Amino acid sequence: MSWDFSTEPEFQAQLDWMREFVKEEIWPLETLLDEIGHEGLVKAMVPLQEQVRQRGLWAAHLDHELGGQGFGQVKLGLMHEILGSSPIAPFAFGNQAPDSGNSEILAMAGSPEQKDRYLHPLLAGDLKSAFSMTEPETAGSDPTLLRSTAVKDGDDYVINGHKWYSTNASIADFLIVMAVTDPEARSYQRASMFVVDVNTPGVEIVRDVATMEHPSESYGLYGNHAEIVYRDVRIPKQALLGAEGSGFLIAQQRLYPGRIHHCMRWLGVSRRAFDMLCERALTRESHGSLLAEKQTIQNWIADSTAQMQAARLMTLHAAWKMDTEGVAAARQDISLIKFFGAQVLHDVVDRALQTHGSLGYSTDMPLEAMYRAARGARFYDGPDEVHRQSVARQVLRGYSAPDDGVPSDHIPTRRIAARERFADLLEAVTSND
Ligand SMILES: Cc1cc2nc3c(=O)[nH]c(=O)nc-3n(C[C@H](O)[C@H](O)[C@H](O)COP(=O)(O)OP(=O)(O)OC[C@H]3O[C@@H](n4cnc5c(N)ncnc54)[C@H](O)[C@@H]3O)c2cc1C
Repeated sequence: MSWDFSTEPEFQAQLDWMREFVKEEIWPLETLLDEIGHEGLVKAMVPLQEQVRQRGLWAAHLDHELGGQGFGQVKLGLMHEILGSSPIAPFAFGNQAPDSGNSEILAMAGSPEQKDRYLHPLLAGDLKSAFSMTEPETAGSDPTLLRSTAVKDGDDYVINGHKWYSTNASIADFLIVMAVTDPEARSYQRASMFVVDVNTPGVEIVRDVATMEHPSESYGLYGNHAEIVYRDVRIPKQALLGAEGSGFLIAQQRLYPGRIHHCMRWLGVSRRAFDMLCERALTRESHGSLLAEKQTIQNWIADSTAQMQAARLMTLHAAWKMDTEGVAAARQDISLIKFFGAQVLHDVVDRALQTHGSLGYSTDMPLEAMYRAARGARFYDGPDEVHRQSVARQVLRGYSAPDDGVPSDHIPTRRIAARERFADLLEAVTSND
């Protein structure tokens, strides 16, 4: 029987180093983003990325043969918990979204030529990428409704479609595009993925969609969420990733580990907000006592601690299941952590913001930005409602309606059955002998 929650000492030492490194070297840069701009930040990152490489922590999401560390999901999860504390930390570690997920797609489904041309430069930080699936006209929560098409024409495919929320596409060198290749196929075998150079004729980046998280069009190191029109975009058949019709299968392989990383990063954000909450509670006095002495604040501290602990254990358990039993076995666990983790993130950040009063609402603290970012967590990687529905469906498969329609635990019915079964006992205790 093994039931072990400990982290092996060598890896714990790496985690300790990361925690210190992110706090001391990366957090300070956050405050200068407006002043140093994209170029300045890239420059500042170079020596930091070198230190990360030397510690053997660069692109840890990939296997050794691809220049990664082959960590597996539990270690990656623990790492992302630390990197999540800063929106720019993943960039120093070569695993920022969406490049990290796209590199996994290329590693998994890319041909040797695609790996040479896209994956290796992506890992080296020489190329940037975007993932282009969601469309404004169809529900992203049900990607079987996709309308963008890739039609075979001789040795080429021709893509037509309209996408948006292709994060980073405006600064990307290539796009991974999901499009329908066989509209007659079964719903999850209709679509395929393609690697498309962003400067291919017919690819029009219409605009960067600004959001609640980043209300201005461009944002520091990253692009925003681009709207793209694909108009008669002709690409060679070698641009197809994996087999035709395998788009959903590949997406699933990419999204499941990505959700674990997101959830752990959310815990990193939650932890940072929670630390602010506790510090403020011990500093601010009102109505004759510190906030820390008020029952409401104490409840928030206790509730946040419990929620973060629950989300952390659930997420690491999902990661462990993926490492030991594979992606498919962890499906339900991943849906659980997706909506539960997004709620924990929201609640902890909200309480920390409230504890800071008007200071928390101001841009003098990172809490308002965390709060805005937390809202998006309920949409990306699938809306919470879809994950809840998926969990409920899977759970219900373990149940069936009773034939007679009477609840199995109906006490009067069970009592009749029990009276029959224990007739001798009843006879013995109720007789006057
Ligand atoms: C920050 C951010 C980054 C993103 N990055 C990318 C990216 O890089 N590439 C990309 O392709 N996409 C990206 N997306 C898009 C994201 O994947 C979609 O927003 C998501 O899939 C939901 O699709 P939708 O927005 O079309 O919402 P819809 O599908 O229109 O759903 C709207 C709402 O309907 C409700 N709903 C839907 N289905 C059900 C159901 N079964 N039961 C109950 N309620 C339901 C939910 O409340 C849901 O929020 C990003 C989104 C965000 C917010």
